[in-house]
Amino acid sequence: MARIARMKQIEMNEKKRLKTFSAAQRVMAVVALLCLLLCGCKKEDWEATRKYSTKYRVMCGFTVMSYSELMPAVGGFGLFATIRQVGSDIVMKSETGSKPYAMDALQRDFQFGCGGLIVGTDFNGLLCCFDLACPNCDQAQYRMTVKGAQATCEHCGIVYALEYDTYIIDKGNGLHPSPRGLYQYQTRYDGTMIHMYN
Ligand SMILES: [Zn+2]
Repeated sequence: MARIARMKQIEMNEKKRLKTFSAAQRVMAVVALLCLLLCGCKKEDWEATRKYSTKYRVMCGFTVMSYSELMPAVGGFGLFATIRQVGSDIVMKSETGSKPYAMDALQRDFQFGCGGLIVGTDFNGLLCCFDLACPNCDQAQYRMTVKGAQATCEHCGIVYALEYDTYIIDKGNGLHPSPRGLYQYQTRYDGTMIHMYN
């Protein structure tokens, strides 16, 4: 309700301002306002369609500035990074490279889902987080390879478009006739820290 009231207020303010505009300026302003409202609604609707998995435990947080692999993932459309635990290290990987970080005492309690995590920004500009394990093969050893905004399972061949809410581009070798979408987790970025959880 508060959102509707606020949108009405914005609309009224715009209408008041329009009175002083020329006809051409009015048309342009209305188009711009409509675009703004439509985009706003679309983004929210998209967010509402998300379904978060609780099958595998996820709980971790990182200061983005300390991990160069994470920086593009929180800032760029269609850019993704992967995070996984390898022994006593956390390995971060992005387009620019891969680096192991020794875990500190707090990080030893972190949980990374089934096979690790994929984090990045989709085409709507929304931050998202998925499990690195293929949800169809459903074992930690069947991790996907992430290249650009595509994740491929080498075992079953299924290819996901990460920037389009894990849309399936290729059903692979037919091992899974009705493949499901990736396990998706909640994520939050406050400008300093990124948290992934369920
Ligand atoms: Zn698979």
